[in-house]
Amino acid sequence: MAKRLPKLPPLLQSKIYKTGQTRSANDDVIFQNRANRNGTVLIPFESIHLFDISVLTSQKFESGFIVVLSPEDYYTNPDALIVMKAKKLKLGVNAILLYETRAQWDKFNPYKNKLSVAEKRATPIDGHFVARILSSGSKDEEKIVLGFNTSSCKGAGIRVAEYASLFTIKSCHLQLEYLFWLCYDSKEVALNAGMTESEIEHRITAITTACNNQKLANTDRLYKTRIINNANNTICPLCLKKLSAGAFLINFFESSEKSADIDKDISQINLFYINQLKTGEFNHSPYNLAWGHQNCNMICKETGVIETIKWMKEVVVSTIIFNKDSSN
Ligand SMILES: [Zn+2]
Repeated sequence: MAKRLPKLPPLLQSKIYKTGQTRSANDDVIFQNRANRNGTVLIPFESIHLFDISVLTSQKFESGFIVVLSPEDYYTNPDALIVMKAKKLKLGVNAILLYETRAQWDKFNPYKNKLSVAEKRATPIDGHFVARILSSGSKDEEKIVLGFNTSSCKGAGIRVAEYASLFTIKSCHLQLEYLFWLCYDSKEVALNAGMTESEIEHRITAITTACNNQKLANTDRLYKTRIINNANNTICPLCLKKLSAGAFLINFFESSEKSADIDKDISQINLFYINQLKTGEFNHSPYNLAWGHQNCNMICKETGVIETIKWMKEVVVSTIIFNKDSSN
């Protein structure tokens, strides 16, 4: 289906495509920078209890997983070894040690313990440790960065909360494009962006059919999760304002200098999670993704939409009481 479809305007296409990738990460951490969400997953050992043995031993993670332990846990915590055994974790196979401080490096030096640097994301990973120890500033304490730091293999994997299977990534792409077309002015905007009327109709029909077939176009569900309004137009899940399709086609980064040209009513649109990403949950999934204002998203990011609204209500009620008290 996808190959014969008329092309979307490039900015929109890339905005949708990028939702299948993780957020950025720099060289000081062990995560990959903007990798596909179905990549190798890093599970912090502290969170391993959130993952059932059946999740770990099945093919749930398409590109596998690596559990990341501290040297303290591995060498001095007897409980850690019991958990590792129960979850079928083995250092050098599906688990690695992460050195983050010089104290760890000195006390549990990996070379003295005959460990080797891990460089491979697929299991068995053929290595036991990685190091991301930053320089303290003094001369004899240079930073130690070992493992997954070459240009061909940078970062050991992605954050487990950001994981989604390839099938889920594609379903999300479909639903997110469907939501673009549900914006009140989508046709007009697409025309202005260079698509012809028949291309637009072709694309809308194909995407709507695909979404219907895959149960991705349930109006009731989209409404109840605050993704669309009762007129079937795409809205921001927090402020509930209708979104203009035009916002998908503005390169806000490039146009920041000539911001006077931008319609003041159009604010930047971001991918929005109704329930926020959380370790142990798989929240990058259809009906949990929406489009919304960047500013609204910043408020909801940590706690999700519903908790944010509860908090806002408390703030408003407190303010009313506060103002009443002060006027007495
Ligand atoms: Zn908003």
